[in-house]
Amino acid sequence: MSMPSEQLMRVAIQARDKSFDGLFFYGVITTGVFCQPSCSARLAKPENLRFFPTIECAMLAGFRPCKRCQATDGTPRVARLVEVARHIEEHANERLTLASLAELAGLSPSRLQRVFKEAFGVSPKAYQDAVRMRHFKQSLKEGDSVTDAIFSSGFGSISRVYGEATRNIGMTPKAYRAGGAGETITYACRTTALGLMAMAATDKGVCFVQFGENETSLISNLEAEFPKAELSTSPAQDAPELDAWMEALNQHISKGAPRPDLPLDMRGTAFQMKVWKFLLSIREGDVLSYSEVAKKIDKPKAVRAVASACAKNRIGVLIPCHRVLRGDGSLGGYRWGLERKRALLEAERDRLAG
Ligand SMILES: [Zn+2]
Repeated sequence: MSMPSEQLMRVAIQARDKSFDGLFFYGVITTGVFCQPSCSARLAKPENLRFFPTIECAMLAGFRPCKRCQATDGTPRVARLVEVARHIEEHANERLTLASLAELAGLSPSRLQRVFKEAFGVSPKAYQDAVRMRHFKQSLKEGDSVTDAIFSSGFGSISRVYGEATRNIGMTPKAYRAGGAGETITYACRTTALGLMAMAATDKGVCFVQFGENETSLISNLEAEFPKAELSTSPAQDAPELDAWMEALNQHISKGAPRPDLPLDMRGTAFQMKVWKFLLSIREGDVLSYSEVAKKIDKPKAVRAVASACAKNRIGVLIPCHRVLRGDGSLGGYRWGLERKRALLEAERDRLAG
C-alpha cells in the first residue's frame, strides 16, 4: 500500500508517465473521477488532486473510474469489474440484479459478488446505492423537491431513501436541503498513539482533527470553532465514512502508514488558506522554518503571521503544521503540545530512515 512521494506523483501526472500506471491512482475532486497517471485527460489543477494507492481506496473515497483511461491496475479482471461498475453508474436508477451484472462480467453471481467486493471494497448493491445517493444529493442541491429527487435518483420509495439518507448523511433529506442554514458536523473520538483524537467532518470533508486529554474538552474546542453548526456525535455504524477516515489517520499516526489523503474542508482567511495549502505540500521527513514558509508563499515579511496561521490550524496532522520549526531549529510551538510535535517528527524521521 505504499505510494511514491506526493511530489513524484505530481511529476508523473504532469508527464503522463506510463511507468507509474498501477503504482497509484489520482482522483480529481471537481469531477469526482479517478485516473491512472498516464491518462490523456486535461490536467486538473494541482489543489484538486487526491492520491490513492489502490482502486479500492479511490472508489471508497467516492471517486468513479475515468472513461478515458479506463483506470485499472492493469489486469483484465479489474478492467472487467470497472465495466460492471460503469454499467451500474449508468443504470443506477434501474433495478439491477446480481445475475444480470454477473452475465455482463462473464462470471457466476457469487463469484462476481466476491471479486467486486475484493476489488472495490463494496458489493455491487452497495455501490449502486452509493451512486444513487450521490445523484440524490446532487438533485437536492439543484433545488429539486425531495419527492422528485427520490424518483430521479432511482430510489423508488420514500422509506428506502429515508433509511439510506439518514444512514449516509446523518440527516433527513429536508434537513440536508436546508443545510446552508444550520450546518451539521459529525464527529467521533478515538485513542491514538498521540492520545485521544477527535475528528469532525462536514459533507465536504474533514474540518477538524485535534488531540486532547478528554472528550469533553475536545468537544468544547469543536463547539468553539464552529459555534453555529449543529454537532452530532456519530458512532461508526452511523458514519462509516468518518470511521474509515479516523481509522486511516490512526494507522498513519500509530502504525506509520502513509498519511491518508482525505478530503479537507478548510476554512480561514485568504492568508491562512494560503499557508495551510502550502503546508500540505511539505513532504514527510522535510521541515521548514516559519520564515522559509513565508518566503515560499511570497510573503517574506509575514513570518509571525505564518506562525499564527500554523497555530490556528484546526486539522492537525492532515495539514502537517508540525513540519514547521523556528529558524534556529527549535520546535517552536504546537497547538497540541510540543510532546506531540516531537513524537510526530521523530516518527517521520524514523520512517524515512527505515
Ligand atoms: Zn483518466
